[in-house]
Amino acid sequence: MATPSGVHALVRRSHEERVLRVLRQNGAQSRNEIASRVGLSRTTVSEITSDLLVRGAIKVVDTDAVERVGSGRPAERLALDPGSGQYMGIDFGHRRVNVVVADAAHDVIASGTSRYDESAQWPERLQTALALIDRLSADTGVHYGALQAIGIGVPGWGDHSRADGVAELFAERFHAAVIVDNNVRFAGLAEALHAQSDSVRDLIYLRLSDGVGGGLVVGGQLARGHKGFAGELGHVTVVPGGAQCRCGKRGCVETVASVPAILGRCRELGVPVETLDDLKAAVEIAHPVVDQVLRDAGAAVGQVLGTAAMTLNPSEIVLGGDIVKIAPTLLQQVKATITYELSWLTDAAPVVRPALLSDDGGALGAIAALFHESPLLAGYEANVTTDGGRQWP
Ligand SMILES: [Zn+2]
Repeated sequence: MATPSGVHALVRRSHEERVLRVLRQNGAQSRNEIASRVGLSRTTVSEITSDLLVRGAIKVVDTDAVERVGSGRPAERLALDPGSGQYMGIDFGHRRVNVVVADAAHDVIASGTSRYDESAQWPERLQTALALIDRLSADTGVHYGALQAIGIGVPGWGDHSRADGVAELFAERFHAAVIVDNNVRFAGLAEALHAQSDSVRDLIYLRLSDGVGGGLVVGGQLARGHKGFAGELGHVTVVPGGAQCRCGKRGCVETVASVPAILGRCRELGVPVETLDDLKAAVEIAHPVVDQVLRDAGAAVGQVLGTAAMTLNPSEIVLGGDIVKIAPTLLQQVKATITYELSWLTDAAPVVRPALLSDDGGALGAIAALFHESPLLAGYEANVTTDGGRQWP
């Protein structure tokens, strides 16, 4: 397949999007109906629809013979193929994989989650994902024969050999282009796309989970930085000489504000909390020690985010992770500290809010990264692999 380039490709994409939108909104249509609805010539619509038919994004459903008045050959009516997966987003977390499949109109047509043990190695995680993808197809009738591209979020940072291996496996299996990137960064992208305001151009996302990771949207684009570390705020030092961090340093944000760090600190102070549920129960009775631990963690996170806000001047700061939902004190303290950090600036305070998306954020962000028309992705470069037939972007 020849890949159109430059302005021609952009125009073609936007025409294609308009055709797909008409089919999504109006159901089956003839080519003439599509042409009049989108205001394009019949020739242009024919070109676009034949390409979409080849890709399996749409199909011929019937002809207009029944309702046709007058003479002439009945016209074929075209519709979105409801079972044709065109884009797949995959998010490998520490303990589970999420898969989301979208059709040509970018609507999610299948999604699911499978769990694995935290100690599971990559071969097992990949097999779990592939089994989930097969099961989704069996359960929903969605098929992957026309898959355009796959976005895959993986935890951690900077492990290019793993990212390349994962990309290769999925590209070979599905004959689709694959991009692989940090799953927390993809979750940040999903938050920017789902923000209340339509025009979030600058956003900081930080997720407090088993680790603390982040992502930046800068000037309307997902930022990777020089080597892909942009937004790794979890490893800013907040307690000089503090607890050992898994990155090798001491006293990182992650050592005071990750879920294990918060639970561990509570236990050190004599509160026997092993899980987030235990923590939730302690929060519900307003346990003063737990409250203080959460405030300390929130202050550390707020200090780092306040500093980051002075660098980026974002309109929104988003805090993700289950602990943010169950411990309101944490978010309150983060907000209070950011407000203090930025108190000398008038009107510059960002909106600080919890994540809107739950655990699916990474998979949705990965799939959003594939929607080439998103202005957030302009100029974005991630690990890219191509198969013989298609090129990406
Ligand atoms: Zn660290």
